[in-house]
Amino acid sequence: MAGEPLLPVTALLTPPVDDRLASILTQLDEAAGCIGAPAYDVHENRLVQGRLGIATALFAALRCKHPPTASHSLRVALGCSRWGMALGLPEEALDQLEVAALLHDIGKVGVPDIVVLKPGKLSASESVTMNRHRNMGLEILRNCCASHTVLDIVRYTPAWYAGRRADFDREGEELPLGARMVAIVDAFDSMTTDHVYRRALPRERALRELYQYAGTQFDPTLVQHFAMLHEGDLAPEGERLARRWLTELDAQQVDELWHWGHQHTAVEETTAEQLFQQKLIDNMRDGVVFVDSNMQIQLWNHGAERLTGLAPASVCQQHWSPALVGMCDPQGKAISDADCPVAFVVHSGVQSIRRVRITDRHQRPVSCDIHVAPVIGSNGVTYGANVLIHDASPETSLEERCQNLHERATRDPLTQVANRAEFDRAHKLFVETHLERGLPCSLIMCDIDHFKQINDNFGHQAGDEVIRTFAQLLKQMCRPGDLVARYGGEEFVVLCADCDNATASGRAEQIRRSLVELPMPAMDGNAITASFGVTEIQPGDTDATMLRRADRGLLMAKDGGRNAVVQLGSGVGDEAPLAPLRHSHWWSWWHGSGKTDLLLERDLMMPVPLNVSIEKLRGFVADHHAAIEGVEGNRVLLRVKAEKLSLLRRTTDRPVAYLLELTFSEEQVHVEHGGGLRSADQLRTRVRVAIRPKRQRDRRHRELHVHARQLLASLRSYLMATDAEEHVSDNVLQRATTIVGTWLRGGSYS
Ligand code: GH3
Ligand code: MG
Ligand code: MG
Repeated sequence: MAGEPLLPVTALLTPPVDDRLASILTQLDEAAGCIGAPAYDVHENRLVQGRLGIATALFAALRCKHPPTASHSLRVALGCSRWGMALGLPEEALDQLEVAALLHDIGKVGVPDIVVLKPGKLSASESVTMNRHRNMGLEILRNCCASHTVLDIVRYTPAWYAGRRADFDREGEELPLGARMVAIVDAFDSMTTDHVYRRALPRERALRELYQYAGTQFDPTLVQHFAMLHEGDLAPEGERLARRWLTELDAQQVDELWHWGHQHTAVEETTAEQLFQQKLIDNMRDGVVFVDSNMQIQLWNHGAERLTGLAPASVCQQHWSPALVGMCDPQGKAISDADCPVAFVVHSGVQSIRRVRITDRHQRPVSCDIHVAPVIGSNGVTYGANVLIHDASPETSLEERCQNLHERATRDPLTQVANRAEFDRAHKLFVETHLERGLPCSLIMCDIDHFKQINDNFGHQAGDEVIRTFAQLLKQMCRPGDLVARYGGEEFVVLCADCDNATASGRAEQIRRSLVELPMPAMDGNAITASFGVTEIQPGDTDATMLRRADRGLLMAKDGGRNAVVQLGSGVGDEAPLAPLRHSHWWSWWHGSGKTDLLLERDLMMPVPLNVSIEKLRGFVADHHAAIEGVEGNRVLLRVKAEKLSLLRRTTDRPVAYLLELTFSEEQVHVEHGGGLRSADQLRTRVRVAIRPKRQRDRRHRELHVHARQLLASLRSYLMATDAEEHVSDNVLQRATTIVGTWLRGGSYS
């Protein structure tokens, strides 16, 4: 610029111009003898151009973004320049100081408008965003500035003299002189400027503030010098300043500070740790996205690009929203901004994991797990959130395949209800739940009547159709939580959860009646009938005994003429606790020895005659698959193999066989009826039960005792018996009789 006609500096600014800057520049104009020059015309930026040369574009960008910040930067630069001259700084240092001061806020070009232009005080997280502009500024300058000194001044300007600020590795005199100076002039100009959220402070007040923070935030010696400078006469400095900025600066010379593609500093500035982290993020298969507290995307790694097809350049600094990646719930319903998991985390500070679908690079939906973690500083301020996008499609398809396999393995292909294997599994579970929680559960077993004739008369296809319709009816008449299964052929089972014998029988009856009224299209509209056996779980049951009892009920329904419901069993009832074990020599009548193997001995009482009791015993024998080892008079010896018990966590594979000795006697008691009823003689049955293992000296003690108690409980349920009192009635009718053997072996099966 040397040698060119002198232009008024005021002409370098375009309106709307900052009043205070205009006044400084007017002073410069006056000092340079340019009074009365035309205001702000086409020669914009000449002043800055002289100082920044080719880097003027940076300043122009800042002015475009936020003119007040550009004006502030120019004021700070001029202030530093004047102060630097007063301090007698060498020419080169002055150059660097001015450039650094002009560009110390250049990073604001990267701050969202919503924060830069906010007409009120910034929130904590917005301040964080605003402070990040320092790093952005450094990043911009690293790419074009060849002077380490300029970079260092810009970098350390926010540092505190006493080193209280984290993120800075220097303090006190280690901080560049330029940085300590810019910090003071920057603060002073900021305090003496009107802001939307705060009126300008008077100069004296601002100087007091500087003094207050001298030694902590600011260099105390420099604060003192700066104050002296402001209290003194500024005119001579103004004249020198005008000369320097308007005539002496040579943009060509200044350009030496700028270097094309000067990027090595960026690498130098990156710590090894940062490099590792950067590489990790770059090479991750998962998408990694950083979103700041304003929901602006700060980082978008290659993984995110690979998944979505969106390049980092196209999304960084954009506002994050679910629509950006076509985010939907697993059912394909678009996720709204209000339901955005990222926004939720940024606002709540609580992390979230969610399975969603996003649109992949080929515009196809892909299942992803979105893991969002809040980024919260030690000061409690939310900086934003890290978003991890994991492609879950391999797992999803595996889950789907497993689901399909599971369904295929557990469904009956003809009727789509559960198959027998699934029923067995569920039935065990029902029994276990009953044992743990005491909830009742019942079982309905049903079989279509004369199904062979249906096949014969209407064909196998029609038979299949009938089976399907029957299964459909069973499903319709079940409650959620129940299980309908095809047990085989035209035989079905229904597990009724939380349901007692009477309710289950009622439901079976309902099904029976509905079936009678249901026309079967495959049978020319004729209806069919079915027979039902119903039972409720009862003390001492295993899944096997319960199933056999229901099956026995079904057989009885068939025997009784079909199209009927037969209920068997006593149900859960009140399970009386077992009386303590009594020792007796009674059992030794049978085998003579083995006293030590006696597991249980009890007297049970049934309020029915002996023949009825024996009938009930037949149910126990049938359902436990018990073998009658011998009958002698009124004594019976049964051999029972214990079923695997779910309540024993570890059971041996080899089943244990038990011998149950039962000695029956019938007693007559005189019962006095109250309320005017006639008194009567009643027959009741007493049975003495002794249980021991078939194999003597079996060592599985715990297992043996548990089984023995279970067998006793089951026997008591079948006989509908209670524990008898010790006292034996004098009025015993039959002690030893062949009647037990006769009834047990023969007779009707009812
Ligand atoms: P009952 O009243 O005693 O039950 O007489 P039933 O004719 O139904 O006798 P049973 O239960 O013994 O006969 C079942 C028949 O069902 C035998 C078999 O041919 C037929 N069946 C078994 N599975 C299927 C099937 O999937 N489809 C068809 N169409 N028939 C089947
Ligand atoms: Mg049948
Ligand atoms: Mg059948």
